[in-house]
Amino acid sequence: MAVRVRFAPSPTGPLHIGGVRTALYNYLFAKKHDGAFVLRIEDTDQNRSVKGAEAYIMNALEWLGITPDEGPSTNGRYGPYRQSERKEFYVKHINELVRSGAAYVAFDTAAELAHMRSRAEAKGETFSYNWKNRSALKNSFSQSPEETQKLIERGVPYVIRFKTFSENDNRFLSLQDDVRGKLEIDLSLLDDKILVKQDGMPTYHLANVVDDYLMEISHVIRGEEWLPSMALHVLLYNAFGWKPPVFAHVPLILKPTGKGKLSKRDGDKFGFPVFPLKWDKITPGFKENGYLPESLVNYLALLGWSPNGEKEIFNLDELVEVFSLKSITKSGGRFDPDRCKWFNQQYLQNADSSIVATVLEKEVKSKGFEDSAVDINRVAQLIQNRLTLLTDVWNEASFFFVEPLNYDEKAVRKQWKDETADILTTVIGLLGGSKETSANALRSLIKGYANDNGIGLGKIMAPLRIALVGSLRGPDVFEICSTIGVNKSILRINNAIKHISG
Ligand code: GLU
Repeated sequence: MAVRVRFAPSPTGPLHIGGVRTALYNYLFAKKHDGAFVLRIEDTDQNRSVKGAEAYIMNALEWLGITPDEGPSTNGRYGPYRQSERKEFYVKHINELVRSGAAYVAFDTAAELAHMRSRAEAKGETFSYNWKNRSALKNSFSQSPEETQKLIERGVPYVIRFKTFSENDNRFLSLQDDVRGKLEIDLSLLDDKILVKQDGMPTYHLANVVDDYLMEISHVIRGEEWLPSMALHVLLYNAFGWKPPVFAHVPLILKPTGKGKLSKRDGDKFGFPVFPLKWDKITPGFKENGYLPESLVNYLALLGWSPNGEKEIFNLDELVEVFSLKSITKSGGRFDPDRCKWFNQQYLQNADSSIVATVLEKEVKSKGFEDSAVDINRVAQLIQNRLTLLTDVWNEASFFFVEPLNYDEKAVRKQWKDETADILTTVIGLLGGSKETSANALRSLIKGYANDNGIGLGKIMAPLRIALVGSLRGPDVFEICSTIGVNKSILRINNAIKHISG
């Protein structure tokens, strides 16, 4: 059987990382089995559709490198891939169910249903439209076919409901989920879900099942929040006489505290992004927060799924290689912002330094230092292994372009001694006289001076760093000196002597 999976978001807003992970698992599974990864936009509820959400979803998948094989932007033979463009299919199929008696027409008004709901509540019960009261309500069960036909012709609004369970049916339905295992569902507890709304539009359940069938979806991999719908979906397949796909419900992503589902608001609360890309111009995503897509993919893949062994860093191809539905965990994965950052750090350190250079170049331009003679590529290489996020770039690199305006007090107190000004004055002389300006040449020059004069190297390096950087941070001090250039370094050292030693 050909593997065909789908990611089926409703375009009600930006894609949350829970959705990203569902998309990712679908992608990995499809690629692992040489199958197709389909993007289907479930936009039958036009009231909930949000402008820009569909484009956002597609851009986010593209940024993450998990691009669908079929979807609204391709011309696959299973299209259209937007449910709003597929109404004819739902009409055709719902008619089949009504004809066979698996679905029925119901005329109860919203007010009547609300009334019954509150009456039940008053008795401490919950109202459910189901096998127990179906024939006492206003529908094609309680009325004759002629009456029903008359009402329809008169234009009385109606919905179409699914006849979920009847007294003579088997009460228990046994389901198989590839993550959760075997489940037994008591059908007598379910209600008769609406399949077509008064406006003639299908509900999620009908459209989802019809499309999964028509698009020949072999495996439904989706979030655990849809597990309660699985019985209804399997019943719908049965009613149509279709073979259901394999189901795999992926556990939720939990809050950093481990308690409850990670929500959009948790991002603000805990200070980390929950969307891949920025949304609304005001909510930054992982991209804007300096994450590499590869690291987010790696982290999310391991959140709720674990390969055998200790290995943690997997690129997309390696993930495809080792992915299996069987290793998806049953319990939710706790989102750990620090671990997510750790993955990014690992990826940044091994990334091509041109990625860092590109970000740095933009920063340098926006801050107005594009005329400085400092070699951006060299700086990028020097700071690369000091970065956790791409947004750290300017913080780690600024002193290559901007001379210190003040000096870290604690560092000065500890490292700047009475003799420092004299030592650095000698260093200035040595630097000024050196023909060679590579970091190695400068290092041996200063080391030689320290050795010859019995001065501890730290007595030179720490103050030199304070003079060049303003504090004790940064990469190798001779690299800094050589990258800034000897002349500019000398200016900085002179400034520091003036400021600090007075
Ligand atoms: N449209 C549903 C959602 O937004 C799809 C659920 C499913 O994959 O069946 O999550």
